[in-house]
Amino acid sequence: MFPALYLTRAESGATEAALRTLSPDDLPEGEVLVRVSHSTLNYKDALAITGKSPVVRSFPMVPGIDFAGTVERSADARFAPGDAVVLNGWGTGETRWGGLAGYATTRADWLVPLPAGMSAQQAMSIGTAGYTAMLCVMALEAHGMQPDAGPVLVTGANGGVGSIAIALLARLGYTVTASTGRPEETEHLHALGASAIIDRTALGSPGKPLQKENWAAAIDAVGSHTLANVLASTRYGGVVAACGLAQGMDLPASVAPFILRGVTLAGVDSVYAPLARRRIAWQRLAAELPAELIARNTRVVGLAEALALAPELLAGRVRGRVVVDVNR
Ligand code: NDP
Repeated sequence: MFPALYLTRAESGATEAALRTLSPDDLPEGEVLVRVSHSTLNYKDALAITGKSPVVRSFPMVPGIDFAGTVERSADARFAPGDAVVLNGWGTGETRWGGLAGYATTRADWLVPLPAGMSAQQAMSIGTAGYTAMLCVMALEAHGMQPDAGPVLVTGANGGVGSIAIALLARLGYTVTASTGRPEETEHLHALGASAIIDRTALGSPGKPLQKENWAAAIDAVGSHTLANVLASTRYGGVVAACGLAQGMDLPASVAPFILRGVTLAGVDSVYAPLARRRIAWQRLAAELPAELIARNTRVVGLAEALALAPELLAGRVRGRVVVDVNR
């Protein structure tokens, strides 16, 4: 028997989330059975747990879009009992049961071997948010961005994606400006590697289609007016990697930055990113993120606390990453 967060839908349509004890027989079929040691609370998990957005496609559901653990049994020759693995995306926690439980079943094609030297807890301190931050960095690089091009803006700076994006960019030698609604976290953002901080209200309202050319590049986790203003203030030939919608899903922008400044808007999806890109991203995360830095950016909680934290995360009151020790 093992503990799990368990989501059901009430007759009213509301999502009901509870801590349950399940047996291995309750798990859906899957090529690989993983004994989960850690999962995380990502923005999407908070949406699933609270039912604030239709993230969950079928009920009952075990949420958790990512997990790290050890293979217990595998019908696929690529994995053997005892292998340390990490998984994120592919609809895990949305269309099939996810990682906020003691065990999970999954497909071998979706698993990535845990990089050497990285623990399950460290992998989840990075989690989907950190891995998405790395995909954003890789998107900037794929469009020719280099540290000497000029300052890079990161929005949603205190969130999971933003905080790790800052750390990664700073380690690579970029000069990073962090946009945040929490000036009280200035010290933490500097410790991550931001050299300047701006108040996010400067970007959050409708702005002019072309503004002062401030940024060589940007990583945006916020969307809506913020992304429109980021595009409008990106320098000639710059690149903006967009991955999130913390402010909103809309993009009230004009084509002016694209057709007059040659700005590139690079979309980043982590859920269905091909395996080869995932492996590169996880290897780079293992090599480029110092362990003490990700530890400082992380809070470790149990399954019950994760339930309580979900609305807090959606309200933007959680700093950095929340790792869930599913056995706590
Ligand atoms: P978090 O909740 O950890 O962080 C989001 C941050 O955005 C907050 O901490 C806050 O930062 C800022 N923020 C919150 N609300 C607003 C607002 N109304 N206006 C402006 N800024 C706001 O989430 P994650 O970092 O995990 O995810 C960030 C976004 O990226 C989410 O929308 C998520 O769905 C998306 N995402 C997308 C992925 C993909 O595959 N494309 C993968 C992972 C995440 P501060 O307090 O510093 O201002």
